Amino acid sequence: QQKMIGIDLGGTSIKFGLVSSGGEILRKTKRKTPASKNFEGVLAVIQGEVEGILQEEGLEKKDIYGVGIGIPGVANGKGEVVFANNLFWKNKPLQRELEIRLGIRVKVGNDASLAGFGEFHFGAMENTRNALLLTLGTGLGAGVIIHGKVFHGSHYLGTEIGHMIVGENFYDCNCGNNGCLETFASATALVKYVNHLLDAQEPSSLKDLREGQQKPLTPQQIFEAARKQDEVALKALNRFTRYLAVGMANLINIFDPEVIALGGGLSESGELFLPELRRRTKTMTYVKENNPTEIVIADLKNDAGILGSAMFVLKE
Ligand code: BGC
Ligand code: ZN
Repeated sequence: QQKMIGIDLGGTSIKFGLVSSGGEILRKTKRKTPASKNFEGVLAVIQGEVEGILQEEGLEKKDIYGVGIGIPGVANGKGEVVFANNLFWKNKPLQRELEIRLGIRVKVGNDASLAGFGEFHFGAMENTRNALLLTLGTGLGAGVIIHGKVFHGSHYLGTEIGHMIVGENFYDCNCGNNGCLETFASATALVKYVNHLLDAQEPSSLKDLREGQQKPLTPQQIFEAARKQDEVALKALNRFTRYLAVGMANLINIFDPEVIALGGGLSESGELFLPELRRRTKTMTYVKENNPTEIVIADLKNDAGILGSAMFVLKE
């Protein structure tokens, strides 16, 4: 049995897992992403936490087969983060810098691709050959499994489904374009649209909530309001679902996958939008009757990223 460390680097938190080659999570920790998401700060947090895990577990560097890390953007074959819009990173030599600091082999991949790899090995995409994971979080990420392998594109720059352009939006994506799917269907998108409606004086319980708290509204608060039939929350959820369905219908037409699994924080409230999402998606797919692609909520929740990153360094 080998031991790996899987890391899921996100805009708000960095999740760590010590994982066995059988897929058992032996230890799990979480740290806050440094406020400005600066590269040096992130390197320091990762170094500190990995060293901490080794110490707590009584392990040495040589006991670790490797460190896999999923980043919210594209990393090329040399482990350089070419672009990560939600971290505001460009051309960062992440693998090299971590290998210097850790003295352990490091592999860098896209967060959603690696989470997809996790779901493929141990979760909602197990026993499939062609399947997609969409992660609905700060951004919208995608893990694409084709013929039983993660598909990265020819230059590791592919599967950026969150930046598939599906319309015109009232705000620009932080990748520099307008109309990206992520600006309609992600946590960021949901909060921005609710704020937009509140600013336009649409009546809602969320208005007082927003004014009464020091921090921005959260998707959970919006979902909670939707459960209580708040008009603004329902309108925002409806828009989110409509656009996500457009994206999913396109994906089904292109890939004809066995399964599309939905992961990321928003999927935990999936019961609020899944029936409508399935219905709308099926009305737009090219083959409408008995289209066999299943749309499901992913299994592994927050563990998909750390499991997938650990398996990635072991297997790829
Ligand atoms: C990025 C993807 C990433 C996703 C989820 C998107 O904005 O472009 O690379 O997988 O967010 O973090
Ligand atoms: Zn974009």
